Amino acid sequence: MTNVDALISTMNLTKVYNGEVKALDNVNLNMREGDFLAVVGPSGSGKSTLLNLLGALDRSTSGEIEFAGELLSKVRNLDHFRSRMVGFVFQLHNLIPTLTAFENVEIPMRATSLRSRERVRRVNELLDLVGLADRGRHLPTQLSGGERQRVAIARALANSPRLLLADEPTGNLDTINGAEVMAIFKRLNQEKGMTVLVVTHSPVVARTTDRIITLRDGRIVRDQPIDNPYLQDLRELRDTDLGQALLSGKLPNEVQGIGLESILSDLQKILLNV
Ligand code: ADP
Repeated sequence: MTNVDALISTMNLTKVYNGEVKALDNVNLNMREGDFLAVVGPSGSGKSTLLNLLGALDRSTSGEIEFAGELLSKVRNLDHFRSRMVGFVFQLHNLIPTLTAFENVEIPMRATSLRSRERVRRVNELLDLVGLADRGRHLPTQLSGGERQRVAIARALANSPRLLLADEPTGNLDTINGAEVMAIFKRLNQEKGMTVLVVTHSPVVARTTDRIITLRDGRIVRDQPIDNPYLQDLRELRDTDLGQALLSGKLPNEVQGIGLESILSDLQKILLNV
């Protein structure tokens, strides 16, 4: 074992598509059981590629992933590994429209040896967990967007995965439903110890987790715990064009001569220290 405390370690993880596009470039990342983290970064920075590799949906070009003590490169049947270990929530819920909420959550259990009575108990428990105990008989079309996404979360948990991976899970939702989805992840993490990784482009969504990993051009450029939300805001400001200009000492013309010099100089000192 490389890292005894980690649920997942990546070692120089690299993914090159078609022999030319380096989507991930030597990524080293450790996740412990019970971590709740966000992966952020501009479009094309490798977020989905990282999620696909961590979720055993795809294989790396080089480097390794150790997942619960197993090297994924040595796992012959990735489908089987994935169905036991990983639950996925995507931006689009992908529920089967002709099946009820109950049946959608039950589907992944059909491939297991769970007996029918146990399955029913578990589906009801999961629907309850996402606040939809009374919606089991509804078809997806009879549910709101937020409710459908909550069914998708229950479905992702069907086989008690070790890791829950969510790719832009709030991308199709309004602010309130998005916050509700993140609140469910937080509850799963805090009350059930579930390890959750959320890919998002939204700093607001990312801030509801405990740790933010920032990717750029396939590399981790920042890996930071969210200790203090206001400090986090200042770090985000530091990464803006204005923040970078302040740190480099080159004030953009647009903000010169408009009476902000002393404030900006104070801000520069603050940004140097966050
Ligand atoms: P993100 O999720 O941050 O937007 P992606 O992981 O989707 O980034 O993509 C990273 C890079 O890899 C991009 O340049 C993208 O065009 C490329 N890429 C992603 N998937 C494929 C693929 N299946 N084939 C070829 N290139 C891909």
